[in-house]
Amino acid sequence: MTYQGVLTKMETEFSSPIEYYLVFESDFLNMNQLLGKTVTIQFIKYQCLNCGMDKPIYRQGFCKSCFFEIPQAADWIMRPELSTAHLDKEDRDLEYEKKVQLQPHIVYLANSSNIKVGVTRKSQVPTRWIDQGAHEAIEIVEVPNRYLAGITEVALKDHVGDKTNWRTMLKNDVVDEDLVQWRDKLKPYIPDEAKDYFIETNTETNLDFPVEKYPATPKSLNLIKAQAYTGKLTGIKGQYLIFEDDTVFNVRANEGLVVAIML
Ligand SMILES: [Zn+2]
Repeated sequence: MTYQGVLTKMETEFSSPIEYYLVFESDFLNMNQLLGKTVTIQFIKYQCLNCGMDKPIYRQGFCKSCFFEIPQAADWIMRPELSTAHLDKEDRDLEYEKKVQLQPHIVYLANSSNIKVGVTRKSQVPTRWIDQGAHEAIEIVEVPNRYLAGITEVALKDHVGDKTNWRTMLKNDVVDEDLVQWRDKLKPYIPDEAKDYFIETNTETNLDFPVEKYPATPKSLNLIKAQAYTGKLTGIKGQYLIFEDDTVFNVRANEGLVVAIML
């Protein structure tokens, strides 16, 4: 069987273990069913997720000109503290910015390779944690807009990490932490504007990834350079496919690539 389409991050279903789907225009693949099987991935061409043209992907699945133009790739996406829709102030497209920024956002702690603080729209919980490969996470603040979440994250970054080490995450070289204790420890550092939105009473969420064998020394597959790769799928964690020979493929980092998948 051959499936072909443009890569976008895998869709997920929060169950035990987590279910992963690769969704193409006219097909979808339940990736969990491919565990233990040999899979070939072949690069065909680029297809920008915005304009659809066969131009090299710059970032986030977009070609360079789209990345610097469209509202879905503005700076406030990666840096929520730069959000301005709550002030009625436009960055690239005020209507779009209001729709995305003026909705409930969550500041959370997640443990993927270490404890980190992050921000997501409330509707993206627990998807965001799954995408990061966190094995445990907790919501600590729920605010009405993206700006408040952003400034909370910035304030907490002085006291806890904000990056995931993908190698550690994939090796599953992780320590269980008491996130409730971390939440309470960080509470005093939440900025005044967000203090009323602190979530006092909830508990950790644990996530169970479908991995049969973790890689000892993960090697990242550069599909454009390699053009094609064949290997036995042994696990999925975060947005990574893990293969028996320790090759790992970050689906999210390859959004906008048209690939053929052969089973
Ligand atoms: Zn484009």
